Amino acid sequence: MKNTRIYLSPPHLSGKETDFLLKVLGSNWIAPIGPELNVLEEEISNLVGSSNCCLLNSATSAIHLMLIMLGVKDGDYVLTQTHTHVGSVNPIVYQKSIPVFIDSEPDTWNMSPEALEEAILSLTNQGKADRIKAIMPVHLYGMPAKLDEILAIAAKYGIPVIEDAAESLGSTYKDKHTGTFGKMGVYSFNGNKIITTSGGGALVSNDKALIEKARFLATQARDKAPHYQHSEIGYNYRLSNVLAGIGRGQMQVLDERIAQRRANYQRYRDYFEDKNQQGYHIQFQEEAEGSYSNRWLTCVLIDPEKNKGLTHEKLRLALEVENIESRPLWKPMHLQPVFKDYVFFGDGTAEQLFNIGLCLPSGSNLTDIDFERIFGVLDKVFKST
Ligand SMILES: *Cc1c(COP(=O)(O)O)cnc(C)c1O
Repeated sequence: MKNTRIYLSPPHLSGKETDFLLKVLGSNWIAPIGPELNVLEEEISNLVGSSNCCLLNSATSAIHLMLIMLGVKDGDYVLTQTHTHVGSVNPIVYQKSIPVFIDSEPDTWNMSPEALEEAILSLTNQGKADRIKAIMPVHLYGMPAKLDEILAIAAKYGIPVIEDAAESLGSTYKDKHTGTFGKMGVYSFNGNKIITTSGGGALVSNDKALIEKARFLATQARDKAPHYQHSEIGYNYRLSNVLAGIGRGQMQVLDERIAQRRANYQRYRDYFEDKNQQGYHIQFQEEAEGSYSNRWLTCVLIDPEKNKGLTHEKLRLALEVENIESRPLWKPMHLQPVFKDYVFFGDGTAEQLFNIGLCLPSGSNLTDIDFERIFGVLDKVFKST
């Protein structure tokens, strides 16, 4: 009999979702409008300390709306990190604008401030400075990017910052929530994220007008009139009140989920530090001074040259044999076939991360028995290395 599968990051219900769902169904508010949406928006705003929130059907939609509201269009440039999920980048192309891929730096694995400035200077030298419409850092695996440095560069060149905080709900940088540093920010409630609405996203901003505009655009851009009248192109991007009910049940346990994910990280860290005492050199994504990660996923770097030839792929395959899911880090966007024609600035750090990095099972519902299975596989691999 095969062991049940251990997933990388499965949904984890709190048990409280049912009450909210029954309330929603009983009240007939099953449309993309209703009280749970309003309350969940307030709860998210209160949590992150942003004054306004608009719930949407995905973070990808939220990113699309951020770009539209910044006026990003045909031929404009959006600078984002190459090491990310494709949901950061597709909306740039929806707008017919041009993604410029920025490398990672080795500490947080997020946007390298040096490569960012290099990209800005290069575009400026080509006379394209006024076409750079946004800088979008990503806080991968929950880890805050080097925000001070990125914000300083953005201010120096007068470029707005928008944040893809899809993976980092609850993470903070100098006691302020990721997603609230730029003009706008987004979170994802996709099924694999730290909390989920099965699928969904949130757009936050301290600018009320932007959030009102987002709600307008997300509901087909309907003008104020008794009939359906439209003066602008809109989208059908709003979250359902039913899913907001799930979100309310999930929000109640966010702190617990962060604590569980961070405990997973510590458990892996202790395990691998022990191996490092035995001559290995396994590395982690490090919290910089003042930053606090929700540790959505725990990932390790295994450079075969420093680990007696052991590779991340050997570990992944050994785990897979035992029905345990792990996954390489995000493949850099500039190496994706679909984005091969876009420019990249950097020294190859993101590519190296992809070549040696592995995301380990990180669900908040991992049990002691699951960890025994995982460490059992890892022990065997290390013994045979
Ligand atoms: C998951 C994710 C997205 C997309 O979120 P959806 O809600 O699935 O659209 C975007 N960016 C990053 C970094 C993500 O991890």
